[in-house]
Amino acid sequence: SFYVNPVFDAAQTACYGYLLVFRECGEEVAGDKQRHEMISVVSHELRTPLTTLLGYVEMLMQYDITEQNRRRYMEIIFAEGNRLSNLLEDVVDSERLESGVFNYHKTYVPLVELIHEAAERWNLKSSQLIHVDSEVEDAFIYADRIRITQVFDNLINNALKYSPGKEVIRIRIAEEAGCYVIEVTDYGIGIPAEMHARLFDKFYRVSHSGSRQIKGSGLGLYIVKKIVTDHGGTITLTSEVGRGSTFRLRMPKPDHLD
Ligand code: ADP
Repeated sequence: SFYVNPVFDAAQTACYGYLLVFRECGEEVAGDKQRHEMISVVSHELRTPLTTLLGYVEMLMQYDITEQNRRRYMEIIFAEGNRLSNLLEDVVDSERLESGVFNYHKTYVPLVELIHEAAERWNLKSSQLIHVDSEVEDAFIYADRIRITQVFDNLINNALKYSPGKEVIRIRIAEEAGCYVIEVTDYGIGIPAEMHARLFDKFYRVSHSGSRQIKGSGLGLYIVKKIVTDHGGTITLTSEVGRGSTFRLRMPKPDHLD
C-alpha cells in the first residue's frame, strides 16, 4: 500500500509538495486497521455525548432559564460527562490489556461478599432490583479485587441496560466441580444466537431490532472476558431474544483452600 504525505517547511507554514510513501503489507497493516477502527469508534462515541454536553452548557448560559430547567440540564451534563469518562477508561483499559502491561494484584477475595457489595451499589442507583441468591458461604477466589469487581459491574450494568422496564436482575452463586459459578440473569431483550460467538470481540455490538439504540462502545465484554481468562476462568452465555440473557462465569477454586 502507499499513502501521500505532504512535505512542509520547518515552520510548517508552506507545503513544498507531496511525498509518496510505500509500505509493505503484513502485520503492521493489521495493527493499523485495528487502530483505525479504534479511532473511528472512539471519535464517533465521543462526539455524541460531547455535542449533547455543549448544547446543554449553551442553554445554561442563557439568562432566563427556570430553576427547574437549570437542574435538569446539570443532570444531563453530569450523566454525559460520566459516559465520556467511562468510555475513555474502557479505551485505556483495553489498550493496556492488549499490551500486557495490566498488572494484577491478586489476593484471596471473598466472592459472595464482593458480589453483595456490587449489587447493593447498583441497587442504590437503579430502580430495577438486583437480587443475589447464593448457595455457598465462604467462597474465596484468588483474584485482583478491583478487576473482578469491574467484571461484575460490567455484567450488572449490561443486564440493567438491556432490560429496560423489567423489574429484576438475578445473580446466582453456586459451586461446581473445582470452581464457583456465578450467573447474572436479566429478563430483557436477549441476544440472537448467531451473535453469541462474536459478543466478546473488541467493539462488537448487536443492533437489537425493535429497541431504541442503547448506547455503548462494544468494549465492555471484551474487557470482561480478558480479565476472566487472565484469572483462569471462563465466561459463557445463554440467551433468547425477547426473554433475556444469562452470563455464566466459572472461576477456579484456589487449591489449598479446599
Ligand atoms: P456495549 O458498550 O455495547 O454495551 P459490551 O461489550 O458490554 O458493549 O456488549 C457488547 C454487546 O453485547 C452490546 O452492544 C449488546 O448488544 C450485547 N449485550 C451485552 N449484554 C447484554 C445483555 N445483558 N442483554 C442483551 N444484549 C447484551
